[in-house]
Amino acid sequence: MIFIAGANGQLGTALRAKYPEAKFADVNSLDLTNRKSVEAFDWSGIKIILNAAAYTNVDGAETEDGRIAAWKVNAEAIKNLSFVMQKYKMDALVHISTDYVFDGRWKSHTEDEPFSPLSVYGASKAAGDLLVSQEEKHYILRTSWVIGEGKNFVRTMLELGKKGVNPSVVSDQIGRLTFTSELVRAIDHLLTTRAPFGTYNVSNSGQPASWADVTREIFTQAGLSNTVTDVSTEDYYKGKEGIAPRPLQSTLDLSKIQAAGFETTDWKDELKKYIQKEQA
Ligand code: NDP
Repeated sequence: MIFIAGANGQLGTALRAKYPEAKFADVNSLDLTNRKSVEAFDWSGIKIILNAAAYTNVDGAETEDGRIAAWKVNAEAIKNLSFVMQKYKMDALVHISTDYVFDGRWKSHTEDEPFSPLSVYGASKAAGDLLVSQEEKHYILRTSWVIGEGKNFVRTMLELGKKGVNPSVVSDQIGRLTFTSELVRAIDHLLTTRAPFGTYNVSNSGQPASWADVTREIFTQAGLSNTVTDVSTEDYYKGKEGIAPRPLQSTLDLSKIQAAGFETTDWKDELKKYIQKEQA
């Protein structure tokens, strides 16, 4: 049986749809950071853990309380999951990482790039990756710019567009969107093909773009005529306190997962489907 942790997040929601028979929990039914709760949980019959739980508030992680919360959920909780993996002799731990474990100086990130996180969120996620990789039977899917059910960049821009706003959007952070549909397909591919354990980059494929260019594509595909003004990350955040530093290059090299037989789909094609659904 599959267990989905963080079941109400963007990815967790998509995983529940893919695996309707799976057991799942969100923070209210199982707080992964609480060792006693994790030990007391009924793990019988569970063979695979899909960990979609995370502290994902990048700027929040720079605050006093956020720092603690980020490290608890993104790193310490993994210790608890490792404990149950060992105790119940499970078949696989699937975990999600981020390009924020890097400083963004590499134009395209490969799986073996050394960690160089700029932010608390990035450091806590890197620590989680190290803990997961201690498990022999693990898959780490490293991803970027996730879009699914919930609050996300595409929805924010669609709302602004419909309100007639012409936004200024960061034009020096470059990457590719990752729809949760792509992540779910990749997880299922690795599990069903029994691909070698390890780390795999996963995002949608296609031409890397800036957030400003992504916004232009969103407006075009949604039939909106709003204009987008390019702004540098530095200027966008000027005068704002408590903003986490972000990597400028988020593009992930997808050759490893493609060589494992996974067919990636272009982010623009998935964006089209996503917007059609939003507008239906
Ligand atoms: P979300 O923030 O949408 O979901 C994370 C979920 O984890 C939330 O439902 C949250 O619950 C839950 N959670 C938080 N703390 C705990 C806890 N102590 N115990 C159990 N559950 C908890 O994240 P995404 O789905 O967007 O992200 C999935 C993965 O992808 C994460 O590992 C993230 O780091 C990674 N990622 C995300 C990116 C993005 O752009 N979003 C980019 C790159 C990687 P609640 O909301 O109630 O706190």
